[in-house]
Amino acid sequence: MPKHPEQSEKRHGEPVLIEDGSLMVDGRELRVRISARRRRIGLTVERDRSLTVHVPRGCEVRRLEEFVRGSSAWIDGKTRLSEDRRQLHPVRTLQDGEIHRYLGRDYRLLVVEGEESPGPEDGTGTPPVRLVAGRLCVNRSIAGDPVRVRKALADWYARAGQRWTRGRLQPWAARMDVPEPQIQVRDLGHRWGSYRAGPGNGVISLHWAAFQLPIHLVDYVIAHELAHVRIAGHGPDYWRLLGRALPECRQVKKELDELGRRVWMGDLLAGQESDGA
Ligand SMILES: [Zn+2]
Repeated sequence: MPKHPEQSEKRHGEPVLIEDGSLMVDGRELRVRISARRRRIGLTVERDRSLTVHVPRGCEVRRLEEFVRGSSAWIDGKTRLSEDRRQLHPVRTLQDGEIHRYLGRDYRLLVVEGEESPGPEDGTGTPPVRLVAGRLCVNRSIAGDPVRVRKALADWYARAGQRWTRGRLQPWAARMDVPEPQIQVRDLGHRWGSYRAGPGNGVISLHWAAFQLPIHLVDYVIAHELAHVRIAGHGPDYWRLLGRALPECRQVKKELDELGRRVWMGDLLAGQESDGA
């Protein structure tokens, strides 16, 4: 915690700021940074929503307090804005009983003995994660290793998402009168989807984590990227095309922004990550 700025120096009987520190004004704590070159007071809201005031050396405490009080509406607006944009992605432990989502529905993780029956996916053996009777079943062979479960879950979302999207793409493409591109599901960092033009009709990539979202939001991501097959960028033509297929697209996008920042992106509780992840 920074110490209080030195206020002992007096000039015209008023306390002035001569050292960096922190100051409380009307219940707000501010980090004080003094700069000899500065002539005016400046205020910044940091990423963690804390406040820093930059003040000229010798600035009177009262002048600073008045400045902060006068900026109160601005501070509220700024901190609210960053609150709205704050990412709230949960961390998971990937233990038995934990709730996971697929297409907006809740499924509990269930650790099961991995029998050697062919998996429902492609017959290449029992996949380490599968959806059976409303449970997301994880083989006991990997259940003790969150990093392996994370990878197996991401792979499961990717496969399930890919299969699901196959049935979804054609109707959307037809509705938008756009030729069907290839589909890939993988990790896209912090984007839900992307489109790359190329041979054939190009490739749409979707984030595996997007398939935790409710169906209408996954549909939005698909339609959003499909519109890029025809129009690059997000100009008026783009929104016109998307809006014809999905009139409520602006509203749905807002919902995606809101729900999307609460989606599990694969983060594990600290201490459980490893280089192999
Ligand atoms: Zn876009």
